[in-house]
Amino acid sequence: MLDVEALRREYPILSREVYGRQLVYLDNTATSQTPRCVVEAVTRMYYEHKANVHRGVFFLSQEATDLMERTRDRVARYINAPSRDEVIFTRGTTEALNLVASSMGQLLDDGDEIVLTVMEHHANIVPWQLLQSRKRVIIKVVPIHADGSLDLEVYKSLIGERTRIVSFCHVSNVLGTVNPVREMADYAHSHGAVVVVDGAQASPHLPIDVQASGADFYAFSSHKMYGPAGVGVLYGKREWLERMPPYQGGGEMIKHVSFEGTTFEQPPLKFEAGTPDFVDIAAFSTCLDYIDGIGLREIETHEEELLKYATDRMMEIEGMRIFGTTPGKAPVISFLMGNAHHYDTGMLLDKLGIAVRTGHHCAQPLMQALGIEGTVRASFALYNTREEVDTFIAALKRIRPMLD
Ligand code: PMP
Repeated sequence: MLDVEALRREYPILSREVYGRQLVYLDNTATSQTPRCVVEAVTRMYYEHKANVHRGVFFLSQEATDLMERTRDRVARYINAPSRDEVIFTRGTTEALNLVASSMGQLLDDGDEIVLTVMEHHANIVPWQLLQSRKRVIIKVVPIHADGSLDLEVYKSLIGERTRIVSFCHVSNVLGTVNPVREMADYAHSHGAVVVVDGAQASPHLPIDVQASGADFYAFSSHKMYGPAGVGVLYGKREWLERMPPYQGGGEMIKHVSFEGTTFEQPPLKFEAGTPDFVDIAAFSTCLDYIDGIGLREIETHEEELLKYATDRMMEIEGMRIFGTTPGKAPVISFLMGNAHHYDTGMLLDKLGIAVRTGHHCAQPLMQALGIEGTVRASFALYNTREEVDTFIAALKRIRPMLD
């Protein structure tokens, strides 16, 4: 059992008041809060270790480089990557997916097919559409069942001889659905397709094992894992990283530059042009130590309890509709109450100190498939409590009559 009260003391922001009320932070799917040890690791980087990485011969530069490169080792261990050279640092999941679409995209031919799902975040849709302005690739979309699970029969029927890429989220940021990554990857591989997994919503809640998952690429963001903003990871299998052209050009990613022709570094540096966010990258390893120290299993159990408790209590409210009801879903509840507009619900909750997200959650095609404009979304992290859920439920019950 987590000692949640002790954990909460490490997050000063959770004691904040908004509008004179105790803050209840339930927007963890968008970004989670950061504990003191990680903030201190960032501060230490600024106070003691700041120097540009990779370039300097002097002590501080080498030290900063070591700290950043140690995180590469730490990430490789955390996700069970076969090699540290398969870990690329990006600004976040969005940049990681853009990198794959842009660079892998150049290896595709006109008429090649890309299979996505209707539950994708825009970050896993738009980069593939941008590719369509350069290559005549065809995008096919897997639909969902009423409970928010993927229609795997259709998934299989969409994969054929021309399928080159299959890209889908491990966990949906709206429905909480946990997709069967291994099964989907095996099927895609049996047709010779490359598998890209958007792990942005899985990484805060589930252990990641890129080898067991079967993914060729796996992307995630630090800021959703109690870490600093501005850091993401793209894991990519070496065989692909070696074949893919660079994504951006500049410092770090070259071996030699001349106007006659330029040669590139080996991965991962080949994909890390310019000065990386070495401060936050270095601190990210503290964040992974923090999660491991608490234990993902314990975090998962706590979040599952909150999810079940909140879901049961929400269903007491008249006209409550929850989108995404698959067993074993992530601790994300997207909902609408009666005819209440999601924005009005969110605004009223905010005035009561409760931070939830409203809108399309960067998943407009999913909203269209559900036949709605948006939802209200409450999502939980390791530091949320049953008391906070009680406050949230009481607030919903209080505002419910105002919204009819
Ligand atoms: N994919 C999913 C499923 C997400 O939830 C998010 C963040 N909302 C992203 C991608 C994009 O992540 P980031 O903004 O950190 O790049």
